[in-house]
Amino acid sequence: TETGPQPEARSFDPAPVAPERDLFSKFDALIAEREALLDTGVRDPFGIVMDEVRSPTEAVIKGRETILLGTYNYMGMTFDADVVAAGKRALDQFGSGTNGSRMLNGTFRDHVDAEDALREFYDADHAMVFSTGYQANLGIISTIAAKGEYVILDADSHASIYDGCKMGDAEVVRFRHNSVEDLDKRLGRLPKEPGKLVVLEGVYSMLGDIAPLKEMVAVAKRHDAMVLVDEAHSMGFFGEHGRGVYEDQELILGEDVDFIIGTFSKSVGTVGGFCVSNHPKFEAMRLACRPYIFTASLPPSVVATAATSIRKLMHAHEKRGRLWSNARRLHAGLRDLGFTLGTAQADSAIIAVILEDQQRAVGMWQSLLDQGLYVNVARPPATPSGTFLLRCSLSAEHSDAQIDLITDMFAAAGRATGEID
Ligand code: PMP
Repeated sequence: TETGPQPEARSFDPAPVAPERDLFSKFDALIAEREALLDTGVRDPFGIVMDEVRSPTEAVIKGRETILLGTYNYMGMTFDADVVAAGKRALDQFGSGTNGSRMLNGTFRDHVDAEDALREFYDADHAMVFSTGYQANLGIISTIAAKGEYVILDADSHASIYDGCKMGDAEVVRFRHNSVEDLDKRLGRLPKEPGKLVVLEGVYSMLGDIAPLKEMVAVAKRHDAMVLVDEAHSMGFFGEHGRGVYEDQELILGEDVDFIIGTFSKSVGTVGGFCVSNHPKFEAMRLACRPYIFTASLPPSVVATAATSIRKLMHAHEKRGRLWSNARRLHAGLRDLGFTLGTAQADSAIIAVILEDQQRAVGMWQSLLDQGLYVNVARPPATPSGTFLLRCSLSAEHSDAQIDLITDMFAAAGRATGEID
């Protein structure tokens, strides 16, 4: 009313919260570190905006045409004409979203079709689509291994694997990264009776190195453990059918590997996560897995693009060949310039340049961006302390000319910062 308190009268500056009561006090060190970095005048590596995306390998960032070398668009499917058309069709037919959980009203025709496509791709009995790969790991790991049971994981596992362990009630045991011997030792110390889940990744995404899955699976089986392999960074281009590192190392789903976790956010080119398995009771997961049940399902356009992309990836032999040749070309170029790389040869589509100094890493990153190249920066805690990475991830759609240009840009940035002679 006219006589009621006016908005201005009600507004006031809240008294600053006493530091000991302020829940944000614990972030002070993080805020200070970020401010110190930005004070040096560099662009914020975690604040990049793609104003336009023109192809799987080209975008416009702050008005500058930029080559993308830090996306997980390994197979370059995001602009595939069939994939885009499938998404548009589903958007027209089913609308923009599902408004509900997979368990209730949120399973549309295309969710089932995406699961069919995954079963075909992996020649698997069961496939379950989650809203992200993060949620697939969170859900499967926390649900499969329960109180009194064990999860045994590689120390360099992805955050979603660690968070799945944290959310579940099983005992968690870590082994040294990629050490078959340490895995064997840790499993040998556990009691025989309880159920055990060994969690591995095909490609480890920080350095781009691959796991000795064959040896690790043999050890896990000797100790009667089930095996889950996260193949997020290998789908589409490892193995005869592009199923992942496990296929490349001649392991078989249902015999050697019990569960494969994957994502739609990399080679598939959209968003979503999944688990495939041949376990006869696998469908029970749909009734028990909280990150599957208590969240909305993916929009129909997303699952329609995923289904189309997955079926095309089954036959993408030429793209696979190009991706591998691109990875080898860039690895050789950077190695010959004198950079320290994460792997001795191109083990995967991720080539990591290792630096020991944050200032220099960010300086190089900025120099690359100024020249028109985007790569990812990784820093602790995602990397071991004192290790900073400029992570390059290749796409089948990069041309030889782009890779040569990228190598020249690295040469200039490396010389400008003193990282190479
Ligand atoms: N697993 C691994 C190994 C990953 O690297 C990632 C994402 N970077 C995920 C799972 C999560 O995938 P998503 O992006 O679908 O959440």
